[in-house]
Amino acid sequence: MAIIAGFMVPHPPMIVPDIGRGSEEQIRETTEAYERVADEIAALRPETIIITSPHSVMYADYFHISPGEGATGNFAGFRAPQVRFNETYDTELVDEICRLCDAEDFPAGTLGERERTLDHGTMVPLYFIRKKYDSGRIIRIGLSGQPLIDHYRLGMIIRDAVNNTGRRTVFVASGDLSHKLQDYGPYGFAPEGPEYDDRIMDVMGRAAFGETLEFDTTFCDKAAECGHRSFVIMAGAFDGMAVRAEKLSHQDVTGVGYGIRARTTAGTSLRDTWTGSAKRCRQNASSRMLTSGSRAGQSRVMC
Ligand SMILES: [Zn+2]
Repeated sequence: MAIIAGFMVPHPPMIVPDIGRGSEEQIRETTEAYERVADEIAALRPETIIITSPHSVMYADYFHISPGEGATGNFAGFRAPQVRFNETYDTELVDEICRLCDAEDFPAGTLGERERTLDHGTMVPLYFIRKKYDSGRIIRIGLSGQPLIDHYRLGMIIRDAVNNTGRRTVFVASGDLSHKLQDYGPYGFAPEGPEYDDRIMDVMGRAAFGETLEFDTTFCDKAAECGHRSFVIMAGAFDGMAVRAEKLSHQDVTGVGYGIRARTTAGTSLRDTWTGSAKRCRQNASSRMLTSGSRAGQSRVMC
């Protein structure tokens, strides 16, 4: 069984009513879309939910996969300690991902855990999912400062590991879009902000996975996006597969882009998106390469 569905979702803590305390009303459309995502995941009854989070442990030159049997977390950092999570990791699938990474000397694995508790990039999606589906284990994977093409490659490795283990899996790519969509927003306005949101929603809507690699790093920085590399990993996981993509919502009212897209696999290998885009990406690899430490350990924006 392959990855049966993927979801691109944001992670604004304020969307949780215990945190938002009423302010979540301004992103009601996002909430309603999130409820639909949770409904779909519950209906699919996955054995494993893979979550890529920009707020898990992040290294410049290594992708961190959360180790161990599981983890807990709560929203105490957002004044809502009563909203708690207790998750079990799919250790067999983690082991298979690590085995495949080792086999090709790809820089990903379970080393270097610095923060065991769940991050909000993981917990916000779980907040909606766990209200409707309390079965299934998770896997939590962080981003890295490696080039976009490596994020894409990691997605392909994850897909192979899922196929090898036969897991019934859904993929949740957690990430906010631009943080520069409104003058009154927390980070002000930049023209690259709405341009980024339009582009990523279009690319993901057409399931044009390879095009996620063609976002220039400088452009992404100016847009102050949070989740692009998360989306790229998911794009890689769906490389070459025929999918049906659906836009559920996009909101920019807070100055931060919250986009939700859903997709389900409809078959296999209708397109070879990897080859052409990967070649172009490799040609531009030097310009895309992030220097060591430039993004390690933290996100540029609090989101
Ligand atoms: Zn974020």
